[in-house]
Amino acid sequence: MSTTAFAGWQQPLHNLVLPVKETYKDIFHQGSAAEYEKAINGARELVTNFLHHNRQPFSGVSSATLKASFAAVDFDTPLPDYDSLLNEVQELYVKHATAFHLPAYIAHLNCPIVIPAVAAEVLIAAINSSQDTWDQSAGGTLMEQQLISWTAREIGFSNLADGVFTPGGSQSNLMGLLLARDHYAITHAGHSIKKQGLPADASRYRIFISEKAHFSNHKGAAVLGLGEQALVEIKTDERFRMDPVLLEEAINREIQQGNIPIAVVATAGTTDFGNLDPLAAIGNLAIKYKLWFHVDAAYGCGLLLTDKYRHLLNGIETANSVTVDYHKSFFQPISSSAFIVRDKQYLRLLRMHVDYLNPKDEDYDDLNQINKSIVQTTRRFDALKLWFTLRLMGKQKLGAYTETIIETAETAAQVIAMDPELELLNYSDIGVLLFRYAPEHISGEKLDNLNQYIKKSMFNEGRALIASTRVNDNFYLKFTMLNPLTTMDDVHFVLNTIKQTGAAWRQ
Ligand SMILES: *Cc1c(COP(=O)(O)O)cnc(C)c1O
Repeated sequence: MSTTAFAGWQQPLHNLVLPVKETYKDIFHQGSAAEYEKAINGARELVTNFLHHNRQPFSGVSSATLKASFAAVDFDTPLPDYDSLLNEVQELYVKHATAFHLPAYIAHLNCPIVIPAVAAEVLIAAINSSQDTWDQSAGGTLMEQQLISWTAREIGFSNLADGVFTPGGSQSNLMGLLLARDHYAITHAGHSIKKQGLPADASRYRIFISEKAHFSNHKGAAVLGLGEQALVEIKTDERFRMDPVLLEEAINREIQQGNIPIAVVATAGTTDFGNLDPLAAIGNLAIKYKLWFHVDAAYGCGLLLTDKYRHLLNGIETANSVTVDYHKSFFQPISSSAFIVRDKQYLRLLRMHVDYLNPKDEDYDDLNQINKSIVQTTRRFDALKLWFTLRLMGKQKLGAYTETIIETAETAAQVIAMDPELELLNYSDIGVLLFRYAPEHISGEKLDNLNQYIKKSMFNEGRALIASTRVNDNFYLKFTMLNPLTTMDDVHFVLNTIKQTGAAWRQ
C-alpha cells in the first residue's frame, strides 16, 4: 500500500525526514520508520513460525529446565541486534508458550483470537493513545463509546446506558459491587462513601451470590471494606445454577437477622460449569427487594451474538450493571473487557464531584472516559481490537462460532455420558464439562489420585491440555471448550489420551 492511498494528511510544517542518529533509532519517531518495520517484521516472523511449527498446546517443559535456561540472561549486557533478541525470546518464551489456538487446548477460559483484533494491536501499541481523556485519544474515545453503546443495545439496555472498557471481568465485577454499595448508602442514607468512608452499618450490608460464582466477587467485597462476610452464598440446583427460591429465603433470613441486603450478583456462565443462573427470576427478586442487580456475564456474554441461545440471557436487561469479557467469549486478545450500566447516572458515583441525587444531564461529561473508571488513569485503547473485529467480520460470524462451540460441547457431553469408563458430572449451557475417569474396579479416594495423575501426566506431555477442579470434595477433569475449530475428532483424541494415561496408572 502506498502512502498516497491515505488522503488528508496534514502538510508538514517543516521537513520531517531527519537523518537518524544511532542513539535515537530505537525511539518510535519520524526518523525511525525503517527500524520500526525491521523490528515488526522480525516479531511477525516469530509469530508465523509459532503458527507453523507448534503442533501441541504445550511443550511439556519442566519449570526447573526452563528456569535453568534463564541463567545466562544479563540485563547489563544488551544483545547486539533483533536476530539475537528474537532467538532468545523464541527459546525462553515462544517455544514453550501455551498455544490457545490449537484444538487440543481445552483447559481454561482462553479463546482463540481473531486476526483483525491482532492487527489492531499493531496500531494500539504503536500509536499508543490513552483513553482517559479526550485530549489523549480523540477518535479513540468515540470508538470506545460506540462499542459500549453497541454492547449495551445487545444487552437490551436503552440509550441511557453507558460504560467503560476495563482490563478484565475481575475489575468489572469490582465496579459492580462498588456501585451497588455506594448507591445503597447514598440513596438510603444520603451518605457518600466516596467522601465519608464506610457508614457505621456497612458491616451489615449483604450481597447475595451463587456458591459457584467467580472468586473475583469475594476479592471485590474484601477490597471494598465489606469483607467476604458480606457475601451470602446461595446453593445451586442440579446444574449448579443459583436457586431463586433459596435466594428469596436467604434475603428474608438476613432481613430478620437485622442485616441489610443491598445487592444480588447473578452469574451468566459459571467458570466451572458454563451454566447461567436464572436471570429473569433473580432480576424479579432484585426489583421486589430493591436490590442492585449485577450480572457477571464475563463468560456468557458470547451468547448475546447467537440467535439460537440468546434466550438464556433473558432478564439480563433488568440488571443495573453487567460485566462482559470480550477476551473470554468474543475471540479478543487479552485484555478486552467492559463494565456496562443500565443508567449512565450511576457512573456519577465514581466522579470527584458527586451530584448523584439531583443530576443535571448537561453536567454529564461524556468525553473524558476517566470519569467512568475506578482505578485506571492511563488506559490502553483495547476497544480498537473489537472495532476491527466487528467492522470486518460482523457479529453474526462471531455468534456462529459460539453456536458451533456449544454444539460440539453438547455432543462431547453425550459421548462422555455414554462411555462406561467415564463419569460425567454436568451438562453445560455453553461449553464446560466436568467428568472423571472411573473404571469399574477403582473407587473412593483412589479415583481422586487416579484423575490427579491423569491431569499431571497430560500437562507434562503437553499434547492435549485440560483443566481440573474440585466439586463436593471430589477431583474432576474439566474441558473448557471455546474454539470452534475443536471438532469431535479432537475430543475423541483427548478422551483417548485420558483413558490411555489412566490405564497406565499404578496405584
Ligand atoms: C474469568 C471470569 C471472571 C474474571 O475475569 P478476568 O477477565 O479474568 O478478570 C469473572 N467472572 C467469571 C464468571 C469468569 O469466568
